[in-house]
Amino acid sequence: MEKSKTENDPHARSLRPATLCVHADPGGPGTPLTPPIVRSSIFRLDDRTYAARAAGRAERSLCYTRETNPTIEAVEQRIARLEGAERTLVFASGQAALHALLMATLERGQRVVLFRQIYGGTVDLVKLLCPRLGVEFERIDSNDFGALERLCDSSLRLVLCESLSNPLNHVADLPRLAALLRARAPAARLAVDATLASPLGQRPLALGAQLVYHSATKYLGGHSDLIGGALSGTDELLRAVWLWRTKAGGCMDPEPAYLLDRGIRTLALRLAAQSASALSLARFLERHPRVSRVHHCGLESHPQHALARELLVHTGGLFSFVVPGGDEAALRVIRRLELFAEAASLGGVESLASRPRDLSQVGLSEEERRLAGLEPGLIRLSVGIEDPADLQEDLGRALG
Ligand code: PLP
Repeated sequence: MEKSKTENDPHARSLRPATLCVHADPGGPGTPLTPPIVRSSIFRLDDRTYAARAAGRAERSLCYTRETNPTIEAVEQRIARLEGAERTLVFASGQAALHALLMATLERGQRVVLFRQIYGGTVDLVKLLCPRLGVEFERIDSNDFGALERLCDSSLRLVLCESLSNPLNHVADLPRLAALLRARAPAARLAVDATLASPLGQRPLALGAQLVYHSATKYLGGHSDLIGGALSGTDELLRAVWLWRTKAGGCMDPEPAYLLDRGIRTLALRLAAQSASALSLARFLERHPRVSRVHHCGLESHPQHALARELLVHTGGLFSFVVPGGDEAALRVIRRLELFAEAASLGGVESLASRPRDLSQVGLSEEERRLAGLEPGLIRLSVGIEDPADLQEDLGRALG
């Protein structure tokens, strides 16, 4: 018996994330299996283009690459499937995605709440932008529901958190946050930076968030060879975001869009290896006499271990640990490492080490760092896909 169209089309069935990473929209015969890089900044116009623009649908018509482009749309569709989102937009960087998100959602007189345990660049941008927009911002500890409840009123518009935080691995209780906002501040949107967890670790939209964004520079790209951002949500919210992306010019170029699309195809393999390796290294470090603390949510000693087990499929490759002797001792350990490169960023195939207090969180005051739990001697590791035994030997050697 002939199969129905839906049965023949794997994309009409609900596929598992690792399959969605690899499979894109089925094209007809003769269409390329790998989305080509469409470098052209402009497209030929016809009556349909003018009609689409006149009807306010410029975002869906090919005209100018700052608005959209086939390579960009291909990767947007792949990410939207992974997130279970109506729509995804990609950006020149994670920060450009956050910028468009803030501009599209906030107005004078409104308030933003952000978790203290969040990437320093997020705090920097909120600090730069909000006073100019006439928007107040408050910082609260991760999952401090009492503090959030006190801030719930009609002016609360946006709550920003990381599903898995950088560098201390705090896990946001997204279902509880979403429920509180629904009950006490229904106009507020929950926006989740899911860079560390990736869409394979968790789908924030299914847990009640309205917006989810990534520094695609990290796990999505996965090879430390592109800068990009991705923001997903409903069609309605993303329409306003598209306007900001287009008018402020934060679009992604087709070349990194191609690299991003290619990187995502191996995300499931990379993330599984990186998560397993990072957890085994965290266990090794937890037992090491020259380490005073390890922040990895996969360890039973982590305050949100139970939440991590409940909410995350993968714990990812990023975690941090503390050595006695403060920041100087931390630097000595980092400089003795041979396989972990001393470099910023995370989520690539190669292992990295850095001092986050002076890097990703450098814009914070010492008091803000203290409140965020960033103590002296903190070392951040981004674990790559090398053999974990080699990485463990390297760490053991460096700790001496
Ligand atoms: N979110 C997190 C968790 C990050 O670590 C970073 C960058 O390090 C960003 C957002 C910003 O992304 P990008 O550097 O791609 O602008």
